[in-house]
Amino acid sequence: ILGTVNSSSGSATSVARAFCSSSTTPITATLFPGDGIGPEIAESVKKVFTTAGVPINWEEHYVSTEIDPRTQSFLTWESLESVRRNKVGLKGPMATPIGKGHRSLNLTLRKELNLYANVRPCYSLPGYKTRYDDVNLITIRENTEGEYSGLEHQVVRGVVESLKIITRQASLRVAEYAFHYAKTHGRERVSAIHKANIMQKTDGLFLKCCREVAEKYPEITYEEVVIDNCCMMLVKNPALFDVLVMPNLYGDIISDLCAGLVGGLGLTPSCNIGEDGVALAEAVHGSAPDIAGKNLANPTALLLSGVMMLRHLKLNEQAEQIHKAIINTIAEGKYRTADLGGSSTTTDFTKAICDHL
Ligand code: NAD
Repeated sequence: ILGTVNSSSGSATSVARAFCSSSTTPITATLFPGDGIGPEIAESVKKVFTTAGVPINWEEHYVSTEIDPRTQSFLTWESLESVRRNKVGLKGPMATPIGKGHRSLNLTLRKELNLYANVRPCYSLPGYKTRYDDVNLITIRENTEGEYSGLEHQVVRGVVESLKIITRQASLRVAEYAFHYAKTHGRERVSAIHKANIMQKTDGLFLKCCREVAEKYPEITYEEVVIDNCCMMLVKNPALFDVLVMPNLYGDIISDLCAGLVGGLGLTPSCNIGEDGVALAEAVHGSAPDIAGKNLANPTALLLSGVMMLRHLKLNEQAEQIHKAIINTIAEGKYRTADLGGSSTTTDFTKAICDHL
């Protein structure tokens, strides 16, 4: 499901090839179980992967309770080094306390590891009925700047300022990824989502970069859609879209909207792509504190993120096997978690998937 883009220090393809030089040698991958429901759904992934015989050794790293001065966050330096070394990992959700003033763990990971593109496939699951049965789109979110640059301050009492940063370099990089992805995955169209009518300089630059890259890919149809109109079109007829590329904040919002089209956040995976061949897969959803520790979480989104990781590693056979087992379990309808209208626990649902392998 993932595309690859050449970079100065090696492409994801060459990294994957190096990993897979021998099918019997286990691959070491970093695992962040994360917060909230994270440990429960990470456990599910470990169980399914072990049952499927996936040759992976997990290097597990937990979020620390103290700030590591080397990362200025609760993420330890060792955990970041683990991803840098392994070049591949799976991440559970990490909570960010609202307005508490310390750096978001997710932002730290994206910035420190230069995870510049977040690829979020969203497709209708056969056998799970929603209003649409033909959703099949990919949102590609710029992951390092925009409103999420972390540059906020109080100007005077009662007035705060938050800076939106858009650079030519990051916009070209994510646009290139999106077009390359479309080309290598048989996709026909890339839509750049923006609000350049109001954000003339920032989104204007983003669009200019997308247009520049579009010229290199004449076989791919390119269009520009204003974000508010995009929301309306997605809700009315999601089949109008194929690959969508957009600045950071818009990607965060639109991908949750897309999750709602196919059955909710329990189902949608993603993978963060870094410049030096790093791939860190994670579910679109957060730590779901309302259901944490209750054995109620749907592990599908993290499992499908794991499937994306396996495809990145070219372990296509195992990826396909696990993907099928998930789809068949949900389609059968006997075991479904509460978010999908069922009454199964996380562990029962996981066991059912293992039985389908
Ligand atoms: P959320 O995604 O955690 O939850 C939204 C709703 O979806 C909740 O009702 C939750 O129960 C439900 N839900 C989410 N995942 C589910 C699953 N796998 N199975 C069943 N139901 C599921 O969003 P939120 O409540 O806004 O955020 C909670 C925390 O997570 C915050 O601290 C936020 O910053 C963080 N967060 C982290 C990430 C990440 O790590 N990438 C992403 C989004 C939010």
